[in-house]
Amino acid sequence: MDLRYKSTRDSGLRICASEAILKGLSFDGGLFVPEKLPVLDVSMDELKDMTYQETAYAVMKQFLTDFTEEELKGCIARAYDGKFDTEEIAPLAKVGDTYFLELFHGATIAFKDMALSILPHLMTTAAKKNHVENEIVILTATSGDTGKAALAGFADVEGTRIIVFYPKNGVSKVQELQMTTQKGGNVKVVAIHGNFDDAQSGVKAIFEDKELAKELEEKGYQFSSANSINIGRLVPQVVYYVYAYAKLLSNGEIQDGEKINVAVPTGNFGNILAAYYAKQMGVPIGKLICASNENKVLFDFFGTGTYDRNREFVLTSSPSMDILVSSNLERLIYLITGEDSGKTKELMDGLKGNGSYSITEEMAEKLKDFEAGFATEEDTAGCIRRVYEKTGYVLDTHTAVAAYVCEQYQSKSKDLAKCVVASTASPYKFAKSVMTAIDGKYENVKDFELLNELESVSGVDMPQAIKDILDAKIVHTLECDSDKMKETVKTLLCV
Ligand SMILES: *Cc1c(COP(=O)(O)O)cnc(C)c1O
Repeated sequence: MDLRYKSTRDSGLRICASEAILKGLSFDGGLFVPEKLPVLDVSMDELKDMTYQETAYAVMKQFLTDFTEEELKGCIARAYDGKFDTEEIAPLAKVGDTYFLELFHGATIAFKDMALSILPHLMTTAAKKNHVENEIVILTATSGDTGKAALAGFADVEGTRIIVFYPKNGVSKVQELQMTTQKGGNVKVVAIHGNFDDAQSGVKAIFEDKELAKELEEKGYQFSSANSINIGRLVPQVVYYVYAYAKLLSNGEIQDGEKINVAVPTGNFGNILAAYYAKQMGVPIGKLICASNENKVLFDFFGTGTYDRNREFVLTSSPSMDILVSSNLERLIYLITGEDSGKTKELMDGLKGNGSYSITEEMAEKLKDFEAGFATEEDTAGCIRRVYEKTGYVLDTHTAVAAYVCEQYQSKSKDLAKCVVASTASPYKFAKSVMTAIDGKYENVKDFELLNELESVSGVDMPQAIKDILDAKIVHTLECDSDKMKETVKTLLCV
């Protein structure tokens, strides 16, 4: 039976997975969601002996039912290969009593690689299946990591182009260089004068512009999205939670059926939503711990039932989580309204109009699986230092936010379940913040000298992704105002 997808703003819509991947966002502004969350049809006993690629197939085939076995296995094989620096793809590091699920072993050393290595293959396969003749134009707003991972994934992929927008002063030096040095005949990178939310709203507005879509169609283009709203990104992220549980089991760390908690450093709510989907699929996950930095909209939401983006945007040392509008939350909202697309639309209109909305008590009742916390800049740095001094393991800033929130939860709740922390970036990506957290003496050392210091402090070899940018040439210098993104896109595509 084919699993079909509907829109969070139109429960009557039905399209297949490959169409949802091609479209990215629904024309009504909603996000695509499976009409029913699938359940794993293989046992943990089978899963525990599977490779990452085999696990990926077992999970993804349940969601992408209109892909043939050959198509899906082909996509998986091309995605999870030598681009990752370990055969395990997503290794689990036991540090003290905590398990860090390292999602940063791909081409750009952040967890976005887990999904963006496969998305281009899912998308080109989907295009073939749907007889798409147009060139697919990927538009992406990034808070730093998505941009590079999408560029790396789509560079020189036939039949596609990619345009990435990032906030000019909102990403780390390494992140910016990773993007502005990106090679590929089909890639464009634009710095906008604004923050990530401006970039994201701009991209969303372009997607919702029917006039523009028509103009592009005439020129042989169609848009799609590599942002985490694309179901083709969400689904591959479910895989590593299943894999992590199976690994814990095969390593004898847990008993079959034993509940674990999962702590996720959260921005756009994609990664933690994938963990929630894994739970719905049957993985024994107890609490989903949603960790925010000082942009703690989600912490406030889970505490009060009101989502309110009307607040100051804070630039933190975990920039990939500097987000006030967590797009993927809409999928959870849709579920807790009882899949009521009218109600969901009303709440999202409130967010667009007033910048806020409140859920009912009845809806809040359905959020019991989630715990939320946040870490200040000081908490984050303190956590990096403490973990390093105790164990020698070096956390990146994003991961440290989750590790801190996880610790807080454990001491407050006395919940003894084992905890897996999603480890979303290599410390090399945020070397300055990481090193100054470990020792204030690094405050005045230049970014790039710190990389060598980090190598000796952590004992972890400098990743290839870092070596690559050290002497690469900057090839992208375009900038634009955040209200000129549409014009910029038209110019770049000569429309
Ligand atoms: C994107 C990102 C996050 C946030 O993930 P979401 O799925 O947007 O919640 C956390 N850490 C890092 C390093 C990231 O790149």
